[in-house]
Amino acid sequence: MAEIMEWVKNRDPEQREFHQAVGEVLLSVQPVLEQNPQYRHLKVMERLVEPERVILFRVPWVDDRGNVQINRGFRIQMNSAIGPYKGGLRFHPSVNLSILKFLAFEQVFKNALTTLPMGGGKGGSDFDPKGKSDQEMMRFCHNFMLELFRHIGPHCDVPAGDIGVGGREIGFLFGMYKKLRNEFTGVLTGKSLNWGGSLIRPEATGYGCVYFASEMLATRGQTLEGKVCLVSGSGNVAQYTVEKILDLGGKVVTLSDSSGYIFDEAGIDRAKLAFVKDLKNVRRGRMKDYADRYPDAVHTPADPTRDHNPLWTHRADCAFPSATQNEINAVDAGNLVSNGVVLVAEGANMPTTPEGIDVFLDSGILYGPSKAVNAGGVAVSGLEMTQNSMRLNWTREEVDGRLRTIMKSIHRACLDAAERYGKPGNYMIGANISGFVKVAEAMVDQGIV
Ligand code: NDP
Repeated sequence: MAEIMEWVKNRDPEQREFHQAVGEVLLSVQPVLEQNPQYRHLKVMERLVEPERVILFRVPWVDDRGNVQINRGFRIQMNSAIGPYKGGLRFHPSVNLSILKFLAFEQVFKNALTTLPMGGGKGGSDFDPKGKSDQEMMRFCHNFMLELFRHIGPHCDVPAGDIGVGGREIGFLFGMYKKLRNEFTGVLTGKSLNWGGSLIRPEATGYGCVYFASEMLATRGQTLEGKVCLVSGSGNVAQYTVEKILDLGGKVVTLSDSSGYIFDEAGIDRAKLAFVKDLKNVRRGRMKDYADRYPDAVHTPADPTRDHNPLWTHRADCAFPSATQNEINAVDAGNLVSNGVVLVAEGANMPTTPEGIDVFLDSGILYGPSKAVNAGGVAVSGLEMTQNSMRLNWTREEVDGRLRTIMKSIHRACLDAAERYGKPGNYMIGANISGFVKVAEAMVDQGIV
């Protein structure tokens, strides 16, 4: 294990987020590799950490003032052993190879956990959507697709949304793909309902997180009814996490964006959630506006010089980090545990640092890792692909029912794998082993390719 980690670090010394994701998986699957010498002999792990293909391209576009701007576009085609590459596109100034490789690596195991035939990929750009007009967004998306189109397809690579890429962006990307290829195919997921999208896809990641959290609580004879919850972020995942927590009788007291967070002790009810959806999805405003609209809520500006995030210091029962990677460090994790949190369900990808994870595991609380907890989004993307192939649309109840079943089966698979390898109740080890074995077996079957 140490040798493989060393090899990964020496090859790309600056890719810290990627090292972090690989390190966690390596540690978890060590007993599997020990019991299966063919995985070592066939260098399955060494092949898994090397993307099958990395595409890096220039995206020139013209802003509203007529200035030419240049961004970088990326697509990491990580592993296609069990199906076409599948994973979101992220538009955020922090995007680089390390972040996208970590996301693509995680996606491989997450997609395997869903039980659907999807390989793993991820992509995006260092383009910053904040403050851009609709016209600028359209020009950027069209120019991005002018290169990406030649690398993707419904049987090869099917991107979706992620941070900074929602329904509007998927529309612009799809429009240009269709024009270039002259064909109407399910090449992207997260499409609008009247041109190939699936019901429940916008809700899927958040709903799936809460379904998974409910399964975790049930192992201790508890439910979300009456539980106080901390949610970070205020985008797609956060909004639908709040919605499902409300459905199940819980109370949410926080939301955030990169400028700060709000604490609303009375709870974010359905009317306030509708305000947040309009604020974030239509008016594209900031969470500070929430405190202006609801003066009992307190807005605390973000302060990167602090060693902890005060959002995680409020008394609560459950936490749903739903913004971005490494948003919970060891101090935050300690604050959560000492303030009574009994469950952490990760909606964002890799939101907890390795030191933070150790705090959760040592404390014995229920800790649900992102690759299991937030797999509902890609699972419903898989269902969108199926509906596109059949040229059928399933009802809301049908898709939601399938999502629930998939989240239940991921939960069971994590527990079973953890139990089998002597770590009962450790969802992180269970998720990593369960996802890894499925992909590793396919790679063994397919030979050295
Ligand atoms: P959105 O773009 O809809 O929302 C992201 C939210 O997180 C915004 O509130 C944003 O604030 C905040 N945020 C982003 N970066 C930072 C940062 N560096 N510091 C503080 N806040 C930040 O994205 P999603 O809701 O889709 O994604 C959220 C997380 O969930 C990501 O980790 C993503 O990879 C993961 N995920 C998403 C899935 C999906 O289906 N959408 C599926 C599985 C995982 P601001 O507006 O200020 O940038």
